[in-house]
Amino acid sequence: MATKPKSPESFSTSVDRMADRAFAALDLDPGIASVIKACEAIIEVNFPVPIKGKIEIFTGWRATHSSHRLPAKGGLRFAPAVNQDEVEALAALMTYKCAIVDVPFGGSKGGLMIDPAKYDRDEMQLITRRFARELIRKGFLSPSTNVPAPDMGTGEREMAWIADTYKQLNPENLNYAACVTGKPVQHGGIAGRTEATGRGVVYVMREFFRHPEDVKAAGLNGGLAGKRVVLQGLGNVGCHTGHLLQDEDRAKIIALVEKDGALINTDGLHVQQIREYMNTHKTIRGFPGAMFTENGRAVLEMECDILIPAAMEAQITEENAPRINTKLIVEAANGPLTFEADEILRKRNITILPDALVNAGGVTVSYFEWIRNLSHIRFGRMERRYDEMRGEYLIAAMQSLSGKPVSDDMRREIVKGAAELDLVRSGLDDTMRHAYQEMREVLLTNPKVTDYRTAAYVVAISKIARSYFDLGTF
Ligand code: GLU
Repeated sequence: MATKPKSPESFSTSVDRMADRAFAALDLDPGIASVIKACEAIIEVNFPVPIKGKIEIFTGWRATHSSHRLPAKGGLRFAPAVNQDEVEALAALMTYKCAIVDVPFGGSKGGLMIDPAKYDRDEMQLITRRFARELIRKGFLSPSTNVPAPDMGTGEREMAWIADTYKQLNPENLNYAACVTGKPVQHGGIAGRTEATGRGVVYVMREFFRHPEDVKAAGLNGGLAGKRVVLQGLGNVGCHTGHLLQDEDRAKIIALVEKDGALINTDGLHVQQIREYMNTHKTIRGFPGAMFTENGRAVLEMECDILIPAAMEAQITEENAPRINTKLIVEAANGPLTFEADEILRKRNITILPDALVNAGGVTVSYFEWIRNLSHIRFGRMERRYDEMRGEYLIAAMQSLSGKPVSDDMRREIVKGAAELDLVRSGLDDTMRHAYQEMREVLLTNPKVTDYRTAAYVVAISKIARSYFDLGTF
C-alpha cells in the first residue's frame, strides 16, 4: 500500500508503534495490520470568515480512520497547534477506544487550527457554523456516517451550533440531533455527558483497585483512599477526575499541573476551588493555601502514588520518563506518553493504565446520547414512575408480612426510580468495568503480553480484525 511516509517522532507513528506490539502478540499478518492502522480518509478544508471587517482564512481537518462500523465517531478539537498528523493519530485512537468499550462505531477526529481565546462568542459561532457546513457538504458530518463530539477547546456550546447548522441544511432528516454528541441537555444532549470522561477515568481506577493482585503488582496496596495523586490538567476531564477522586474516593491531590505552572500541597488540594479560582483569574498563580511553581513540567516528576496526565499528548517523553517517580500512571488524556517514554517506563516497571481504555467514558456516553437521539426519548421516561409504584407495593408487602415499619432511608432507596443520570452512570460504570476485565484477562492469559496497553490493544485489534474479516475486507 503506498501511503505517505510519517515522521518517526510523530504522534501517529507513536500510536502505530504501540499498536504494533499488539499485532506482534496476536501474530497477525502484516497486511492485515497495515489495513487496520491506515487512516481511511482525511479532508482538509480552508474557508474564509469575515472577522471585524477583514476576511480570515481558517484551516481544519476531519479524519475517518475506520468505517467498519458507522458512524465514525470522535471529537472536534479547536487549538492553535492542531495539525493533520495529530488528527490522524487521535482518529486511530478513537477506532481502538470504541472497540475496547464495545461502542459500535468507527474512529474519527477533527481539528480546527484556531486560538478560541482570540475570538468573541459571535465570531466563534460564525467560524464553527462555517466549519460544520464545510464538513457536512463534503460528507464528513451526518448522524449515520460521521458524528463529532467535544474535545479540547470545544464544548456543548459548539455542539449546539453544529446540530443547528445540520438541521438547517437537512430539515427533512428526523434524526438531525444525532449528527453530533455532547449537546446541551435542552437540545438533545444527555445527562452526564460532560462529566463522562472524568467519571470513566475514576471507574477504571476503582476497578483496578478492586483487584488486589493488580494493585500489588504495581507496588501499591489498599484502596484509593489516601493515595497521593499528581494531576496534570484542569480542563473538563482533569476537573471531574480530580473532584471525584477527592470527594468520593478520599484520594489526596498533592499537586496540580497547569499550563502556567503547578500548585503543590502535600496535605491535599481542593480541585473545584482551584478551578473556580482559574475561571476568575485565568491562572492558578496566587491560589491561596498552596505552593506555586512556574516549572510545572518538573512537578510531573514529583514522588506520588498515582500520576494522572489529563491535559494533552506527548507530556512524558524520553527526556523526562527516566525521572518520573510514581507507581501508577493513569492516562486520562489522549497520548500523554510518547512511544519512547512508554518503553522506558515499562522497563522501569511503572504500571500504565492506557488512554484507549481510561478515557473511553466520553465516547461511551456519546453512544448513549446518539441512541437517545435516534429513539427520540429520554432514558427512563417510560419506566421511572412505574418502578416507583412497584417499590411502594414492595414496601407495603414487607411491612404487612413482617409487621414492622421500613425506615425512611430504606424506603427512599427502594422506591426511587432511576433518572436518566442514574442510568447513564450505571451504563458507564458497567462498560468501564467490563472493558478493564477484558483487558486484564488478556494480560493474564497471553504470555506475549506483559503490559496493560498492549493488552488493551489486543482486545481492540481482535475485535476490529474480526469485524473486517466478517465484512470480507480480507
Ligand atoms: N473527544 C472525546 C475523546 O477523545 C470524545 C469523543 C466522542 O464522544 O465521540 O474520546
